[in-house]
Amino acid sequence: MTHPFLDLAPLSADHFASVERRVAGLMDTSQDVVIMQGEALLPLEGAIRGTARPGTVALNIVTGPYGQTFGDWLRDCGATVHDLAVPFHTAVPAAQVREAFAEHPDIDFVSLVHAEAATGNTNPVAEIGEVVREHGALFYLDAVASIAAEPVLPDAWGVDLCVIGAQKAMGGPAGVSAVSVSARAWERMEANPQAPRHSYLSLLDWKHRWIDGGRKALLHAPAQLEMLALEACVERIETEGLAALTARHAHAAAATRAGALALGGGIEPYVYEARDAAPVATTLRAPAGVDASELVARALAVDPALPLVAGGGALAKEMIRVNHYGPQATRGVVQSSLAALGGALAELDGAAGAGAPVDLEGARRAVTAAWA
Ligand SMILES: *Cc1c(COP(=O)(O)O)cnc(C)c1O
Repeated sequence: MTHPFLDLAPLSADHFASVERRVAGLMDTSQDVVIMQGEALLPLEGAIRGTARPGTVALNIVTGPYGQTFGDWLRDCGATVHDLAVPFHTAVPAAQVREAFAEHPDIDFVSLVHAEAATGNTNPVAEIGEVVREHGALFYLDAVASIAAEPVLPDAWGVDLCVIGAQKAMGGPAGVSAVSVSARAWERMEANPQAPRHSYLSLLDWKHRWIDGGRKALLHAPAQLEMLALEACVERIETEGLAALTARHAHAAAATRAGALALGGGIEPYVYEARDAAPVATTLRAPAGVDASELVARALAVDPALPLVAGGGALAKEMIRVNHYGPQATRGVVQSSLAALGGALAELDGAAGAGAPVDLEGARRAVTAAWA
């Protein structure tokens, strides 16, 4: 008896290369794109360990939890790290990056997260990229939460290492990921004696044995199911059109924000300015005195399929995330999410005998208006 997930023919090198080409198309890049056989943390870590070493002077921009992790890896590689941290409710302005270079002209590596699903902000990568290019530093970008939700253009922006994953706006699998690598980044890795080699973390192994060999032989058996799922997800994106998909995310973010403002009850957008809010996910601040994780739990009791989650770690008490990823970036999901949050809030307020009034009908109208 054959099974749809089992008994598959092996994934050929040609097939693998064709998925790589289509993924590169989503980033509009002519750089080498390597599909890594693991979740996005694999290329995120591999790219830092490949390029950073003692002597590297890194500007690590922290707009959420991932930036903190990158700083730890950079320090572990022996790099000197200047952290530029901005509050989670905003984006980092390019002018602040310019100031950092003025203060530390020897910076030769910049790490940045494009959009943060965990905090709901998005950074002006094109403007920051201009500053980074002026100073000739290597530019590393985590675009896991932005790819397919907003334009990601490594070539146009001068990004040397651009990491993406399929599990957010692409609506795809989490077990494989990709990174585009510029010629400059390859040179840095080749010249780095401590870059991982003969290692699962190694990007150079993929260059030497896969790319330089004309993409004829894979390094090891690929994660076949994940690769097929990635192909199916890229196919679905190509059918809808990348522009239509990013527009859908922009609509979902704008509508969630407008709906939350109209809902009232003390709920507010977590990211102050709409232009700093990520299209992939909208974060909201729970009303004073209301525990965000309790609010989310009550909303999910009504409909467990809604893409609602409380903030991670220390943010669990105050932040609500509406993860309108991929297939969830619809007006219906946004409407239902806000209705469930409004209902839960009214319930909690009723129990406490307090709270600002909740306007479910106003929220519904605001979502419809913002979507149009
Ligand atoms: C989601 C995300 C990742 C991948 O992390 P998971 O929690 O495994 O999905 C990496 N970077 C950013 C900025 C992300 O939002």
